[in-house]
Amino acid sequence: MHVFGSSELLEDVHQKDLCIGCGGCVNLCPYFKNHRGKTTMLFPCTLAEGRCNAYCPKVEVNLDELSLSLWNKPYDGSPLGVYKEILAARSGKKMAGGAYQAGGTVSALITFALKTKRIDVAVLTDRKELVPVPKLVTQPEDVVKCAGSKFMASPTLAALNQGVKEGYGRIGVVGTPCQVMSATQMRCNPLNTEDFHDPVELMVGLFCTWAVDTRGLIPLLSECVDSACIMGMDMPPPPSEIMIINTGESNVEIPLDRIRPLIPKACSICPDMTSEWADVSVGVVEGKSDWNTLIVRTDKGADLVNAARKAGYLVTDKMPEENLQHLCVAAAGKKKRALSAAKEKGLLNTQQEGQRAALRIREDVVEKILAEDVEEVCRT
Ligand SMILES: Cc1cc2nc3c(=O)[nH]c(=O)nc-3n(C[C@H](O)[C@H](O)[C@H](O)COP(=O)(O)OP(=O)(O)OC[C@H]3O[C@@H](n4cnc5c(N)ncnc54)[C@H](O)[C@@H]3O)c2cc1C
Ligand code: SF4
Ligand code: SF4
Repeated sequence: MHVFGSSELLEDVHQKDLCIGCGGCVNLCPYFKNHRGKTTMLFPCTLAEGRCNAYCPKVEVNLDELSLSLWNKPYDGSPLGVYKEILAARSGKKMAGGAYQAGGTVSALITFALKTKRIDVAVLTDRKELVPVPKLVTQPEDVVKCAGSKFMASPTLAALNQGVKEGYGRIGVVGTPCQVMSATQMRCNPLNTEDFHDPVELMVGLFCTWAVDTRGLIPLLSECVDSACIMGMDMPPPPSEIMIINTGESNVEIPLDRIRPLIPKACSICPDMTSEWADVSVGVVEGKSDWNTLIVRTDKGADLVNAARKAGYLVTDKMPEENLQHLCVAAAGKKKRALSAAKEKGLLNTQQEGQRAALRIREDVVEKILAEDVEEVCRT
């Protein structure tokens, strides 16, 4: 992988409006900051190669390199990535009563991982009024305070970089697919630092189809509801076409037609719906709002799930075949749309001198994904 510096990051990501504000470049140096969802560079830096560029999930991401590093095999573009099993899951009796987004599987796994000292600290996302706030959490009982989805692009990885700076060596990260992709690039030691130690002990990925720009959502919600009263938000799966804002006393419904214009451009070229580079990935289950879909990908993930289940932190069940099919179609559809958009914008496998790609994927895999009938692929 060829790594560039911050001036190329500005050119390729910021100037092309492809920054998703993941925080991957924040807290590495004094220059990059995120304010209310927007990442900016405060002062110029002249380094030819920088971690900011190397970790960014929106420039020169080579999926073959990530796949070889993590799974020991080339990237094949399968809709849900590499996995061992897919289960329905929810938090168990030891985790009763949290204000979880769905089944509370994420909070249960992270609480259990902290309690059993599998990790020393967790990188989570809290909220200050409406603005998502990255957080380092060391106490198991504090995990539930970050429960609930903030459907905005969040600079969560600023907390990962902060945790590394503070010397934590066994960090658990909860993030969206772009955040997981950025952290995975960091784990691959792209600058070949000699004394590199992978600080991530556990990666819990969320599903994500798209997020909303914080700077756009705040004024829109302020028109509809007092933002200080917002307790949570939800986006029920299709065919529902609403975002629900829970104020404690009532639910305010906002049509997705008003939300969609606030989706960052970066989401349109994002090929990953299920956080394919995580140990476990968690999403909702269509039609069962208090359960999660749980994709177990690695031995470490399987061991955590089994131990959390035994200890009463997690309950699992078989995932209905129909739900599996829908999940696969949704993930395959997102991949196909993303590659098609990236190709059209000249951001896929760019070859021209002096031009960089957002994504690099082997051409035969690109062709396969673009040609496939997603329903058909998910039937076989
Ligand atoms: C932007 C976004 C889009 C999503 N889109 C989908 C989707 O299309 N389909 C689907 O099935 N699921 C989607 N999800 C995931 C879903 O909303 C739940 O997060 C997931 O099912 C876990 O539920 P839970 O009850 O286990 O979570 P909880 O136990 O309530 O824990 C939620 C965790 O999410 C983390 N978190 C919250 N907001 C953010 C954020 N903005 N960035 C990073 N981490 C965050 C918190 O740290 C917390 O630990 C999305 C989540 C986000 C944040
Ligand atoms: S690392 Fe994240 S926050 Fe930084 S430029 Fe890239 S997308 Fe934006
Ligand atoms: S769609 Fe992709 S780029 Fe956009 S927030 Fe979700 S994971 Fe990040």
